[in-house]
Amino acid sequence: MAKARRGKKQVRRQRDPGSGGGTREHWRSDGAPKTAYRSAGEANGYALQALLENGVQLEPYVCTICGQWHVGSSRT
Ligand SMILES: [Zn+2]
Repeated sequence: MAKARRGKKQVRRQRDPGSGGGTREHWRSDGAPKTAYRSAGEANGYALQALLENGVQLEPYVCTICGQWHVGSSRT
C-alpha cells in the first residue's frame, strides 16, 4: 500500500535588517515598483528632464533592493 507522503514545508522568510527598514526606495506609495535605471547617467538624465519639463526636483539614488538606480522626490 503506497501512501503519498506530504512533508511539511518549512518556509522561512529572511528579512534584511535594513537601516531605516523601508522598501520605499524600490516601491512607490501605490505599491508599484519604481522605474529602474541601470546607470547614474540614465537616472540623472530622467531627473534633469523632470526638472525642466515639470519643475520637479528628483534625486537619483542606488536602490539596495534591486541594485539599480531610482529617482525620488527630495523633500526638505
Ligand atoms: Zn529598486
